[in-house]
Amino acid sequence: MKNIWLLITVVLILTLPLSGSVQADPGPETGQTEVLSAFVDSWTQSYGQEQVNAEPLPGADLGKRVYLTFDDGPDPRWSPPVLAVLRKYQAHATFFMIGRNASTFPDTVLEIASDGNTLANHSYNHFDLTTLGFQGFSLEVGDTEQSIRNALKDHPELAAQVTKCLRPPYGKSNETVYAYAMTMGYSISMWNLDTRDWAGLAPEAILTNFTDKLQPNRVILFHDGGEDRQNTIESLDLVLHELIMQGYEILPYCTESGQAVIGG
Ligand SMILES: [Zn+2]
Repeated sequence: MKNIWLLITVVLILTLPLSGSVQADPGPETGQTEVLSAFVDSWTQSYGQEQVNAEPLPGADLGKRVYLTFDDGPDPRWSPPVLAVLRKYQAHATFFMIGRNASTFPDTVLEIASDGNTLANHSYNHFDLTTLGFQGFSLEVGDTEQSIRNALKDHPELAAQVTKCLRPPYGKSNETVYAYAMTMGYSISMWNLDTRDWAGLAPEAILTNFTDKLQPNRVILFHDGGEDRQNTIESLDLVLHELIMQGYEILPYCTESGQAVIGG
């Protein structure tokens, strides 16, 4: 009898928080089966049949680290004020750039890199990469990398900050996208904490949503392009303040050696 209740408890723990956390976060770039499977792996590893504990991700050995990412720039209206907030908190991030924007605004690419941030790939035209064959895919990714490198051509000391990380637009990927990316030497880089800065929320509401979802090893998604980002800039200040008050280390997700390992 005791074993039956133990089994029921374990099943409830494995299923209830999963359905809540995954469905509660439908950003414009969600639909990430890989994030879901990462959660499943994490939960499966964390909760053996013997262990019953409702707290997610126990294990203090994860370290209080989070990884900061920005999508959809560079944009000369929004990237510089984002950089000013990052400088205020001495924080660095990975910027997933749209190649078209990087070609149009090379000075902004240079400004982002000069501040010590890392640069990554978000396709040239912000296309759904699952709809492309390898030729189209390789142009989307290759032209973006070339645009970023062109912007830094007079600054070879910054070249190592251009990473081989690719974030597919809308978070849309499949096995083919993973295979194409691997062929080009790229890693697919998703996120697991959407700030919802795209949803028209007030900065304080973005902070509340963020704080509710915060735990170690989150890859945080913000945007520095695409539309009016005033709420992003104001909420970024609140979020970084909160992270530092809570003792978190704030890091870029991608570096020259690849993307951070965030598994539990
Ligand atoms: Zn995007």
